[in-house]
Amino acid sequence: MQAADVTDLRERALRLDVKLTPEAAERLLRLLDELAQWNRTYNLTSITDPQAMIAGHLLDSLAASTELAGERIADLGTGAGFPGLPLAIVHPERQFTLIDSTAKKVRFVAHAARALGLNNVKAVHARAEELQPDSPFDTILARAVASLAGLATLARPIAGPGTLLLAYKGQRPDEEIAALPADWELIGVRAVLVPGLKAARCLVSMKYRPGMRSGAIPGAQ
Ligand code: SAH
Repeated sequence: MQAADVTDLRERALRLDVKLTPEAAERLLRLLDELAQWNRTYNLTSITDPQAMIAGHLLDSLAASTELAGERIADLGTGAGFPGLPLAIVHPERQFTLIDSTAKKVRFVAHAARALGLNNVKAVHARAEELQPDSPFDTILARAVASLAGLATLARPIAGPGTLLLAYKGQRPDEEIAALPADWELIGVRAVLVPGLKAARCLVSMKYRPGMRSGAIPGAQ
């Protein structure tokens, strides 16, 4: 790892309003080293070019950093730990539960959390819809997992009234938004410019309103 890489990552993160300490930037780059190493054996990610990994995995994950709410954060379908691991590095005061149904990915997440000394990360091997957490999560994150309506279904069992669901999407997904069930209220859609990524990105935020489910007439609230 070069000092120039750390400086460059900190500058690019600032463009997403994320202020990285030098230690956090070093940890983020170390995470990519670990991923590249495991990827040789386990095929965890299709992105392998180092610069593409910085943009596509680290910076894209950090794009939601300013929107997290509460202490208990879930990353549903975390894969190799994105966006959960980069956000856990930047928010040591919050507790992150990273969930995936694929065992080898969860093994990597647990390994990376240990190697990086992240004691605010729990790696859980499960299908999200089968989880029964002691208390609901405050924020549920999901990148590249399902449609918004699909996420709404997966997130319900681990959500409570007011839980924030933050979905990482490409172009503004108007058709998916129109199909959102009535118990998930659309809060906003924010277009994000991820430094180094050409693709359009946006963050869709929704809140769980369980009372709105049965008998609710869409558009009439
Ligand atoms: N969020 C990661 C991975 C996206 S791929 C990233 O953006 O890089 C989608 C992941 O969701 C896969 O790893 C898959 O195993 C997981 N997944 C799909 N349905 C799931 C479910 N019902 N519960 C838990 N994980 C699920």
